[in-house]
Amino acid sequence: MANYTPMIQQYLSVKAQAQDAFLFFRLGDFYEMFFDDALLASKELEITLTGREGGAEEKIPMCGVPYHSAENYIHRLIEKGYKVAICEQVEDPAVAKGVVRREIVRVVTPGTVMEGKTLGERANNYILCVSERDGLMALSTCDLSTGELYVTSAPSSKEWLRDEVGLYDPSEVIGDEGLLEWIREQAAPLGKPVVYTPWAKTKDEESRAQFGESQWIRLENERRECIALLVGYLSETQKRSLGQLTKISPYEPEQYMILDPFTRRNLELVETVRERSKKGSLLWLLDRTETSMGARLLRRWIDKPLLQRSRIEERLEAVEALFGGFILREDLRLSLLEIYDLERLTGRIAYGSANGRDLIALKSSLRQIPAIKELCAASPSSTLKGIAAGMDECGDLTELIETAISDEPPVSVRDGGIIKSGYHTRLDELREAGSNGKRWIAELEAAERQATGIKSLKIGYNKVFGYYIEVTKSNLSSLPEGRYERKQTLANAERYVTPELKEKETLILEAEEQMADLEYRLFNEIRESIAAQIQRLQSLAERIAEIDVLRSLAAVASDGGFVKPVLTDGYDLVVEQGRHPVVESVMKDSAFISNGTQLKKDAAGILLITGPNMAGKSTYMRQVALISILAQIGSFVPAAKAEIPLVDRIFTRIGAADDLIGGQSTFMVEMADIQVMTDKATVRSLIIIDELGRGTSTSEGMAIAQAVIEYVHDHIGCKALVSTHFHELAHLENSLSGLRNYRMAVQESGEKVHFLRKLVPGAADTSYGIYCARLAGLPGGIIERAYGLLQGFEQAAAAVTAGVQGEAETSLTGRANNLELSDKHSGGMTGDKAGALNTDKNGAINTDMS
Ligand code: ADP
Repeated sequence: MANYTPMIQQYLSVKAQAQDAFLFFRLGDFYEMFFDDALLASKELEITLTGREGGAEEKIPMCGVPYHSAENYIHRLIEKGYKVAICEQVEDPAVAKGVVRREIVRVVTPGTVMEGKTLGERANNYILCVSERDGLMALSTCDLSTGELYVTSAPSSKEWLRDEVGLYDPSEVIGDEGLLEWIREQAAPLGKPVVYTPWAKTKDEESRAQFGESQWIRLENERRECIALLVGYLSETQKRSLGQLTKISPYEPEQYMILDPFTRRNLELVETVRERSKKGSLLWLLDRTETSMGARLLRRWIDKPLLQRSRIEERLEAVEALFGGFILREDLRLSLLEIYDLERLTGRIAYGSANGRDLIALKSSLRQIPAIKELCAASPSSTLKGIAAGMDECGDLTELIETAISDEPPVSVRDGGIIKSGYHTRLDELREAGSNGKRWIAELEAAERQATGIKSLKIGYNKVFGYYIEVTKSNLSSLPEGRYERKQTLANAERYVTPELKEKETLILEAEEQMADLEYRLFNEIRESIAAQIQRLQSLAERIAEIDVLRSLAAVASDGGFVKPVLTDGYDLVVEQGRHPVVESVMKDSAFISNGTQLKKDAAGILLITGPNMAGKSTYMRQVALISILAQIGSFVPAAKAEIPLVDRIFTRIGAADDLIGGQSTFMVEMADIQVMTDKATVRSLIIIDELGRGTSTSEGMAIAQAVIEYVHDHIGCKALVSTHFHELAHLENSLSGLRNYRMAVQESGEKVHFLRKLVPGAADTSYGIYCARLAGLPGGIIERAYGLLQGFEQAAAAVTAGVQGEAETSLTGRANNLELSDKHSGGMTGDKAGALNTDKNGAINTDMS
């Protein structure tokens, strides 16, 4: 270190404070990177690697980016999951002795981005903190750009933690090292690059002060600790006021329906399984919001369906009023359209990064509030009336911005032109002086023209030479001697100054500098005084978002022909003419066929659905799950009538896509899911299993399927929809009183099979796999041979079924025996071959045709 130049030594000591980040080290107009940072950054950013003498034998690797375009480079590094520490000169180079002092002023991390492209407008950007103490796990979540902060805790359970983390889709996770490790393993296959930082520094006192005593004392210890950790990290990276964090929103896990990450993916709630795109998801269908805040809130509602009937009914009541009131809906829409992202605007105001244009955006947003308030207050909905009553129009802030901030301020906050005239006397005086000076210069120009007789003489200004008198070469002869001092020679003109011009220039420039400084100071004062009102703005933003979401739900319901569901605390789920909202909305040529659902206590809690591939089984099962979710977020549902019991949790076990991602065998994934399900499901849960028992031999698959169904029936007693291609399992209807066979109807005419997409009672008698194989274009010879073999297998299968049926009487403790027995029954070549053929065939067709 001793050999390095003082500047490099300074670099190294700053870098030591930001080991896990790229250090952007400010040198003049550039941010430079050195050593390993430079090597990696030149690759990641595709910028030229150079070297710099630094006192060592070899040149130090270096690369840099211009400071004015740094944001773009920072964005690219953040997107790739890196952190960037910004190191600025913190003293004036003109007065510095030796190397200018430099400090890290902020560390930008994926979870703490405040501006720019990295923030998707219509999605939250979360940083999560996880901690554990005394058998309790806690999780705090923050979106620094909007100021949202949630906290929750529960008895230690990794599944719980996984489900919660999955909900937020964080871009950064900090906290307990062991938990991070586990989340990294569990969550890695699920999403975008996530940055993990082990973190143990708490800021207890700081947090207490930040949120105020009354919020703080209401929190449980483990929650406090978790928030203090998060605040510790935020203040260490941001190094400035976190004024946007004012409110902690604690919640209990049991307030919301639990949806594990796989279920959320399988049901394509916020993105599709294949493309991971919003388009094609439930969120995409429901999102007709006009504001970004509304879009983000809608997503939070979908992420957390409610379990409290009264709260759901409040939302439904408002949706109903908006559903019926087209004009109200449209009027609200037009006002909402004019509202900017209040949450992020206020976030930036509190953070101190808002500029003049942000304040103008705030003003024009606030101008819409009275109209929205009035519309809601006059609506027939008591929910909307309630929201209106709590709405603070913030007229004082509108007025402040109106009187103080010019209507079209520049982007920069340092160069003046932001503050309106009439707002501040001293500023007006300086402006007057400035414009007097300019008038004087205009007069001087006229006088000089007259004195010299040169019509083209002009007075100009540039940053290097200041004010000058310019005379073209052809007119030089007309200039009097001695009066002008030559400053600059151009190709066809000369530039001069005079002592009195220089004198005036000093006055003008001083006034301008003073003006810019004063404007900046005034702007900061105004921004701070608005920041002091942040809670009012935040709660206003919340209400606007809510209105926007309710309105959006009503618009979708109206266009989609949805109905208001009736929520019950009971067990029975009854839907008439239900539809899958997303599949229906993307169907072009044909109509979606509706199907009813009746899941009733004791009579039919479990539906066992058979039918060929492509018949519509999984669409139907997802439809039931989506209708439940829609109802519990407070939306109307795609049906003619719906009676929906509160569902505490939905489990899904649905084929293909998620198996591929984890790289595990289909069968093991299925079994692991079933294990969680048997452990966690309650009588109020809804279970959906598509093609139970795939991925192993026919006989074993069938045995496991039967055992699982029996367990759900006898021990959990919850509602379940199970599809299977083992039509042999139909006999279960005889032994399980709460199970009913259904099938997707098909019409056979000659060799053709026509899918009717209608759910009808009874079991299918074949799975039509070979028919589908032919549709997929397999050679005729294979198809014929397969039909021939099938006949033989079916006779063997009949024998197996008889055996399994005999065992069905055996209690669950005899499951192991069951398996063994089934194996024996299916032993020998025939059974194994049948299994192999079945699985492969289904697998192949599934991928090709869907
Ligand atoms: P399965 O699970 O039985 O293999 P899917 O549920 O995947 O079948 O349905 C196959 C295709 O049939 C779907 O992609 C959809 O386009 C269409 N479909 C399903 N259900 C319906 C319905 N009720 N009305 C119209 N088309 C449907």
